[in-house]
Amino acid sequence: MREFRDVLHIDAAAGYVEAEGMIPYESLVVECLAHGVMPAVVPQLKTITLGGAVSGVGIESSSHRHGLVHDTVLALDVLLGDGRILTCTPANEHADLFFGFPNSYGTLGYALRVEAKVIPVKPYVQLRHLGFDSPGEYFRELGARLDAGDTDFVDGTVFAPDRLYLTLGRFAETAPYTSDYTFEHIYYRSIPEKREDYLTIHDYLWRWDTDWFWCSKNLMAQNALVRKFVFGRKRLGSRTYTKIMRWNSRLGLTKKVERVLGLHSESVIQDVDIPLARAGEFLDFYQRNIALWPLWICPIGPVPHAESFSLYPRKNQWYLNFGFWDVKRTREAHERGHFNRMIEKKVAALGGIKSLYSDSYFPEDEFERLYGGGTYRALKAKYDPQGAFPGLYAKCVLRH
Ligand SMILES: Cc1cc2nc3c(=O)[nH]c(=O)nc-3n(C[C@H](O)[C@H](O)[C@H](O)COP(=O)(O)OP(=O)(O)OC[C@H]3O[C@@H](n4cnc5c(N)ncnc54)[C@H](O)[C@@H]3O)c2cc1C
Repeated sequence: MREFRDVLHIDAAAGYVEAEGMIPYESLVVECLAHGVMPAVVPQLKTITLGGAVSGVGIESSSHRHGLVHDTVLALDVLLGDGRILTCTPANEHADLFFGFPNSYGTLGYALRVEAKVIPVKPYVQLRHLGFDSPGEYFRELGARLDAGDTDFVDGTVFAPDRLYLTLGRFAETAPYTSDYTFEHIYYRSIPEKREDYLTIHDYLWRWDTDWFWCSKNLMAQNALVRKFVFGRKRLGSRTYTKIMRWNSRLGLTKKVERVLGLHSESVIQDVDIPLARAGEFLDFYQRNIALWPLWICPIGPVPHAESFSLYPRKNQWYLNFGFWDVKRTREAHERGHFNRMIEKKVAALGGIKSLYSDSYFPEDEFERLYGGGTYRALKAKYDPQGAFPGLYAKCVLRH
């Protein structure tokens, strides 16, 4: 599959790009920008591939207009386990696979070719960072901005329950200056420091990549000397961090240090989508039980077909994505998955849904109820009858 990484066609006027499944967004964006367009939703990490984002769940600050990555897909060619290649669209004989592919994580087949929506861009993005000291006021203002619908990009960063920021981005033809967060300056730190900022569209799309949001702090990359002399401009970014994290989890280095310090730890890496009307309740729960800061927030707009994606069912309503990626360390021991399981239960109780790209602890019956169990079994029987690929529960929860 690795060789399937080219752009096949961009039709800026008709508003779509056709590309191979393994193309990383970094390359896809370069080619789209050269045609004056961008994929309607560009996940924040350069290394994520188009096919990976469609088979999982991808999101960004344009999601308030365009939904999740899979909401922007127009057609897919899927390679099945028996070697057949099927073209799937929302209206052809393989519409069931089209709607069952998102959140299937390569357990039904692999996306060879994807046709996805693109939108026109301007050269710059003007950012405004609005600060709030109460969640109630923050969510009210966010709702008002979404209703007004006059902003191209919306996301938020919560540094603490009384330090909440909303970032509104608008395309701009000109900019009085542009900031650079690809080396010495760190984007997330600029949020509370600046009320207004300008970035080129390219740098805006990758503003979170350089420091993996804020997670590069765990790799010392935010120390000025380490940043400059160990990492250097070229090595800062998701590609390097992914490699380091893989080595670390293989060698268990952090775990060994924690054991020496008498700490118990649980990795809490989750993206959860909560109905906007219940967002305040989730933040309150999060503050009391998890409290890993900062926290990323991103609205997802109602889109046609949202209810049809059988393995990632959403209602046709506003959701708010909460992203948090850190390690919860405690002096006392807890059962395996204690904090993640607490989150899973709360998300379900609030009518939300969580992504499956990291750790999950659902019992199988609950998982089936939440992620389209009956429909998934029918899809598996139809498109992967010989079980060439693992099942979704085995892959995403049991990690087989
Ligand atoms: C560390 C980390 C950070 C993330 N950060 C973000 C983020 O900032 N923004 C965001 O929107 N999402 C984020 N995600 C979620 C991400 O979009 C999904 O996990 C997506 O599936 C990753 O795609 P990938 O190309 O990196 O694939 P991989 O991580 O290589 O694979 C992910 C899964 O997708 C399957 N897969 C890969 N390619 C295909 C294909 N062509 N067809 C079918 N199945 C395929 C693989 O078998 C695997 O199960 C993150 C995930 C991780 C693990």
